[in-house]
Parts: sequence; C-alpha cells; structure tokens
Amino acid sequence: MENLGRINGKTELVGLLATPIGHSLSPAMHNLAFDKLGLNCAYLAFEVGNEELEDAVKGMRALNVKGFNVSMPNKMKILPYLDELADSAKFSGAVNTVVNVDGKFVGHSTDGMGYTRNLKEHGIDIKGKKMTLIGSGGAATPIAIQSALEGVAEISIFARDDAFFPQAEENVRIINEDMKHLNVKANVYPLENVEQLKAEIATSDILANGTGVGMKPLEGLSVIQDESMLRPDLIVTDVVYIPRKSKLMEQAEAVGATAINGLGMMLWQGALAFELWTGKQMPVDFIKEQLF
Ligand code: NAD
Repeated sequence: MENLGRINGKTELVGLLATPIGHSLSPAMHNLAFDKLGLNCAYLAFEVGNEELEDAVKGMRALNVKGFNVSMPNKMKILPYLDELADSAKFSGAVNTVVNVDGKFVGHSTDGMGYTRNLKEHGIDIKGKKMTLIGSGGAATPIAIQSALEGVAEISIFARDDAFFPQAEENVRIINEDMKHLNVKANVYPLENVEQLKAEIATSDILANGTGVGMKPLEGLSVIQDESMLRPDLIVTDVVYIPRKSKLMEQAEAVGATAINGLGMMLWQGALAFELWTGKQMPVDFIKEQLF
C-alpha cells in the first residue's frame, strides 16, 4: 500500500477490533483518506474476539492510540471497557467507534448516523417522518435510535419471531421511555403480521430494511411479500449493499419509489468515524471513486 511509505516515528495508530476481519473495507477506506489528506495516521485491523477484547482495549490505552473501530462480535461487549458513551452509543447499547480524548476512551455508534447522513445526501431529512423499520439487530438498532435522536415522528419496528424479537421490544421501550423527551412514538409488531405491515407502510414516508434479507445466503429474498405494498412517493432503504440491487431495491424501482441501498450508510459510518478521530472530513467522493 502506497501510504505505508510515509509511516515514521510520529505516525498515530487507528485500529479495528473484530473477527472475522479479512473482508473489511475499513483499512483501505481510512488509509486512502489519511493519504489523500496527508495525515500521519495508519489504520490497522486486529483479529480480536470477545475473549481478547478486554486485553486489547488495555493495549490500545497503553499505546495511546488515536482511536479505533469495533465490529462484530465486540460492538456490545466493549461498553464496560470504555470511559464515556455518546448518546448514539448509550441508547443503542453498541459502539462501533472509540475516540481517545486526552486519554479517555469515548464510545460512539456511527452506524445510525451513517444511515441518516446518507439520507441527507439524497435530500431526505428524517425529521417529522414516519418510518417502518424491519429488524432489531446490529444494523437496525442504531438506525432506530439515531432516527429517534434526529427527530423521526413515529417508528414502527417489525421483527420476526427469533432471538432478536426481545431486542425489538427493548428498542421500542428505550425510545418511548428512556428517550421520552424526544416525543417519538415507537411501536413493535411481529413481522409475520403482514396486514399490519401493509397498514404501517401505507402510512409511512420511509420503509427501511435493517436485516440481511436480500444478501447471501438470503439473496433474491425480500422482507415484503410483493411490490403492491410500495408506492412511488415512498422512500425505500436497505442496509444490504452486496448485491447493490437487492430484491427490495428492485421492487422499489419497479413502482418508481426512491431506492437507497446500504452502500452510502457503510461509507458514511466510516466518514463520520474519520471525522471524530481527525476533526477532518473524509474525502468521500475520492473514496467512492477508488473503492466502490
Ligand atoms: P444481526 O445478526 O445483528 O441482525 C439480523 C437481523 O435480521 C435480526 O433483526 C433478525 O431478526 C433479522 N433476520 C435475519 N434473518 C431474517 C429473515 N429471514 N427474515 C426476517 N428477518 C430476519 O445482523 P446485523 O449486524 O444487523 O446485519 C444485518 C445486515 O445489515 C447484514 O446484511 C449486514 O451486512 C448489513 N449491515 C450493513 C451495514 C451498512 O453500513 N450498510 C452496517 C451493518 C450491517
């Protein structure tokens, strides 16, 4: 990699603690951006699971790193090892970005922020909108929390009857009770209730898929039964970005709805982490050109 040529005694380390890690686009994304802006930083990925996490964070402290990303399976497990949490992390119970602020490790979740920022790039402000969100896992939870923090009016969460359903109930409780001051109305329904799903989509501005349905091994599948549940003035978003055009994106395009895949969310969660570490904006157009 060309940026390795400029590593010297003053290079600051930014890391990633996750497993499996080999497929991650984050090292390429951040190192390209450091290079482009001439920042003396390097981003390295470390294969770290739950068992090694506490020691790894201690190591990060001892090395006084600039910050680091956390991905699965560590996003929730890292909370006790940090000094402070931003609201994005506190309410979603997950951290994907840690910033070293004068020796204090502060946790943020830029996944949801990446989602809303990507909507803004498409000229959409979440404020005052009604959203139907499918899912309650690692991607859907920060989308729900950040949408609430940014003033969504109502959010109806649908989750299928699996181990994630209690998390859907908890996300709704957090929005209605812990985030009561924001005046967001949150509802939870079983995904199996298709009539309710139809009714909620019909009164929503945004339909968001926050599950891996549409991506391997569920490629070619969609969280909605058919496109009659969609309409041209609906905004349909997907967290899935491989393939670029999931079944849901195809269904949205078929009725002339706005279709936004997960690529922008992925790019912007990285760009917002970059900004938290460096105080500088990631050159996103350059990164898109180089990587996507
Ligand atoms: P997760 O395992 O934490 O959660 C999975 C969610 O999908 C749960 O709510 C589960 O109930 C639901 N689900 C799984 N199979 C389902 C099915 N057949 N029908 C209905 N619901 C089903 O996973 P995650 O980390 O939330 O990741 C979900 C997807 O989001 C993955 O495809 C991942 O690649 C993608 N993702 C994208 C971004 C981005 O920036 N675009 C970020 C994180 C994750």
